[in-house]
Amino acid sequence: MKKIIYIAGDGRSGSTLLDSILSNIENSISVGECHRFWIRFYEGESLCSCGEEMIHCPLWSKVDEQLKQNFTDYDPIEFKKRVKEIQLFKNFSEIPNIVTSAKWSSFCQQVKAFYTIIAAQSNKEIIVDSSKSVAWGYFLYHLSFVDIYFIHLERELPSVANSWKKEMQLPEYTNKEVFMPTKSTALSTKLWLKIKVMAKKLKLTPHYLFVSYEKLCEHPEAQLQQIKLFLDEEFQTDALQMLPTHAIGGNPMRAKGSANIEIKAQKNRYNNLSKIEYFGLKAINNLAKSLI
Ligand SMILES: [Zn+2]
Repeated sequence: MKKIIYIAGDGRSGSTLLDSILSNIENSISVGECHRFWIRFYEGESLCSCGEEMIHCPLWSKVDEQLKQNFTDYDPIEFKKRVKEIQLFKNFSEIPNIVTSAKWSSFCQQVKAFYTIIAAQSNKEIIVDSSKSVAWGYFLYHLSFVDIYFIHLERELPSVANSWKKEMQLPEYTNKEVFMPTKSTALSTKLWLKIKVMAKKLKLTPHYLFVSYEKLCEHPEAQLQQIKLFLDEEFQTDALQMLPTHAIGGNPMRAKGSANIEIKAQKNRYNNLSKIEYFGLKAINNLAKSLI
């Protein structure tokens, strides 16, 4: 495995678009929000973006099989708890200590194996992980087993807050209706600011790039060139394809074909925000840009 390209940032910030773009990198496999493996695979209710049920997916079923084979103490339920524990904000500063503590030693070995198995099974050298969680990315970095290239994707606060108020159905559940959680303006603002502060830690790592979702949509060519330079990888920016992958939390429709990816400037609508909310959020957004 050569590297993990890790998309970090808030939900509703355009990571699906960026993930689809990055899956065009030669020798790469996009695994979506793979830190959700321990929920999605074992609950057995959702589809992988390859179109198969998670438990029958040729990649994820092998990952499960090999983890069980290689580690006699592998316990998916315990694993799910630990992944959650890492993601709790209050534990963020503890992450560098976690990787050296005896209590976490076996878990850390198994996380490294998880990514190594993905690369080996798919026969790819680059993993595109759009887990988004800053804490999970920071944890992977401290495991020091592979180069992690962080792309910190940020969308402007009014758009993120507006989007968190919309009910959105998850396309990977086909037997029941599952919706993404919605968030109040106060909560989405708090989260957006927290992510911005936490991402400052990623900025101190050797490979970090900040990408504005708005800029990516407005000037795709320039932004994609910058991403290519940062990653030191080649991909055809003028013929980006929606490629089938094994993304967790991705849209299974992706498996259906190789449509072109269209990147276009977004018309922002803030119909879920009041005027006061919009101007308040815009002010916080601009202030945060200069302060954080
Ligand atoms: Zn799959």
